[in-house]
Amino acid sequence: MKEKLEAALDAVKKACIICTNVRSELVSDATIQKKDKSPVTVADFGSQALILDFLSKKFPDIPAVGEEDSAELRTEVNQGVLEKIISHVNKIEPSLSKEAILSAIDFGNHEGGSTGTFWALDPIDGTKGFLRNEQYAIALGLIKDGEVILGVLGCPNLPLDLNNPEGEKGSLFYAIKGEGAFSVSLSSNEIKPISVNDINDPSIAKFCESVESGHTSHNESSKIAAELKIENPSIRMDSQCKYAAVARGDAEIYLRLPAQAGYVEKIWDHAAGAIILEEAGATISDINGKPLDFSQGKTLKNNIGVVASSRAIHKPIIEAIETVKG
Ligand code: AMP
Ligand code: MG
Repeated sequence: MKEKLEAALDAVKKACIICTNVRSELVSDATIQKKDKSPVTVADFGSQALILDFLSKKFPDIPAVGEEDSAELRTEVNQGVLEKIISHVNKIEPSLSKEAILSAIDFGNHEGGSTGTFWALDPIDGTKGFLRNEQYAIALGLIKDGEVILGVLGCPNLPLDLNNPEGEKGSLFYAIKGEGAFSVSLSSNEIKPISVNDINDPSIAKFCESVESGHTSHNESSKIAAELKIENPSIRMDSQCKYAAVARGDAEIYLRLPAQAGYVEKIWDHAAGAIILEEAGATISDINGKPLDFSQGKTLKNNIGVVASSRAIHKPIIEAIETVKG
């Protein structure tokens, strides 16, 4: 497992570099970001190409479920974007040809399922946060027989200290099942064990949720917070950085409450974050208290939403959700 962890960390580090490189070209022109989504496309596909090229060479027998595939990039209209992807990937891996990049992206074509071992990859989770120059994450999980056994999150824009948002930024988070959770500063490589803030009284909790009201119901979370007598304002943050924030004690709760009936969560949006947070000492379930089920293909179709928190307050949160939902 150590070899897989080392490889996953190396792969995610490369992806952090391509994402920060693409991002840094945008800083000077904030208006382009709003109209044109191509920068995020370049970083997204570039990240998947770098990670899966690296992992497929190291572990050719471990397939991957990646969020992206190359079909769009092979169309005439997207040749300009593809050129940009190749140019950014080649800054990090100069030897990769166009075909090698496209086939690395398509290495992520596995369907997932209840048996065997496979990677689950979100090359950029929180694309809206990326475009806003806020939070995004590169999320890589390893799933064996339907259970997440390893996770790495790259959070290039996450302040080391949330209370000092202008301070140093950029961390990796990782966990192997049964072995605890850790953070690594991207600049100093300092490794620290992380753990959740174990509180017994939900009313003193801070909770995080998506920035996007289309991804989680802000209206319901405020009712649940009121039911739990929580007065702290919610911490709104894009991407699986929310899992990392709870795992290192910035907040005690992560709520993801369906904003659209029928939406099914994707495994790559939760695999890495969930094992890191679990190994940091949290309880994770869906809004009905059911464990997240990663054995159902690409989606968490047996679950609705996500509720993660330090252990002692998990049950009261599920009860508050029941009360609010009626
Ligand atoms: P977040 O940054 O936490 O808002 O989550 C970003 C992720 O939300 C994306 O990677 C999408 O896969 C996912 N997503 C897209 N639509 C929805 C939806 N209607 N409900 C919940 N999640 C969604
Ligand atoms: Mg995502």
